[in-house]
Amino acid sequence: MSRFFSKSLESLAPYTPGEQPKASGLVKLNTNENPYGPGPKVGAVLREQTAELLRLYPDPECSELVAAIETYYNLSDGQVMVGNGSDEILGFAFLAFTDVDKKIVFPDTSYGFYPVFGRVFKAACETVPLKADLTIDPSDYYQAGGTVVIANPNAPTGIGLTREQIRGILDNNRDNLVIIDEAYVDFGAESCVPLIGDYENLLVIQTFSKSRSLAGCRVGFALGNKELIADLNRIKYSFNPYNLDRLAIRIATAAINDKEYFEATTREIMDTRDWFGLEMAKRGFGCLPSQANFVFAKHVGVNGKSSGKMSGKAYFEALRTKNILVRYFDKPGIDDYVRITIGTKAEMEQLLAATDVILEEANPTL
Ligand code: PMP
Repeated sequence: MSRFFSKSLESLAPYTPGEQPKASGLVKLNTNENPYGPGPKVGAVLREQTAELLRLYPDPECSELVAAIETYYNLSDGQVMVGNGSDEILGFAFLAFTDVDKKIVFPDTSYGFYPVFGRVFKAACETVPLKADLTIDPSDYYQAGGTVVIANPNAPTGIGLTREQIRGILDNNRDNLVIIDEAYVDFGAESCVPLIGDYENLLVIQTFSKSRSLAGCRVGFALGNKELIADLNRIKYSFNPYNLDRLAIRIATAAINDKEYFEATTREIMDTRDWFGLEMAKRGFGCLPSQANFVFAKHVGVNGKSSGKMSGKAYFEALRTKNILVRYFDKPGIDDYVRITIGTKAEMEQLLAATDVILEEANPTL
């Protein structure tokens, strides 16, 4: 740290992104990317472009993309804004809707960026423990006394709340903003977008990184009532007005307009996930009931025998030696688990085969 660094941020612990390995040949199941590439409409847009596209600044309002998202979700003008990944939108939201004396409340096990945003934007943070089964108790967020942010489904557990449960949180927080981070919602959870008309205290944030296969393009979006969206734009125009480049606007517009491809690929990922959970169970792994494109799995012992139990860290490291990358969080309460992104069926078969070998190596007598 240089001597010029902000004194008030000296203890800042930045977010650690999942590894993006330089080496090829790895089975990469560690950052919840989509195993299927972007759809054919995105490919067509890319092929049409020339370098000339990049001469001018982009449209700061990203009108073409915003209109396409409004149409897709049946929202009206002014109810959508887009950002450079949903991380940027979350950052704008923390800046806009928290303060030193206006806390932000979120689960203690959730997306690791929330506490970092809280710290960097100097918001008072309050964390709420998950229940013993790693679910969220919605009533813990009633009368929260500050802005609430909940990932639904939650990360890294993959467990979702129902729309009715979130309605309960909204009803019991009429004077607090409730932000629902729906990064993974398209893989089987209930979206809160249909509640936007009923609740002026609801802000929904989604991303193109997962279900729309554009993690490398960096596009996220917020949906809510016009005042909330105007607040977010106020921050954006005070920070980074041209937050999406011209290519990203075109690519994301093509992606949202390709509903057929989106539906087919999300369905495929959900089917693979459900099959994979059963295969893992046969090997003595318990997976939390996931509504996301990943599972949170821990070894509970073959045929219920605890003697063969393998720690989350040991399993993560053993997979790494077999060129399979998953995510491990060295955090009390979840350190028995690894988070495994759902890839293609062939990739999951590779992981299962490697797991068989790992279990055999770890405990040949089982
Ligand atoms: N929310 C959650 C819960 C996530 O896991 C992620 C991905 N790391 C994000 C938001 C941010 O995604 P992106 O910036 O790629 O849109």
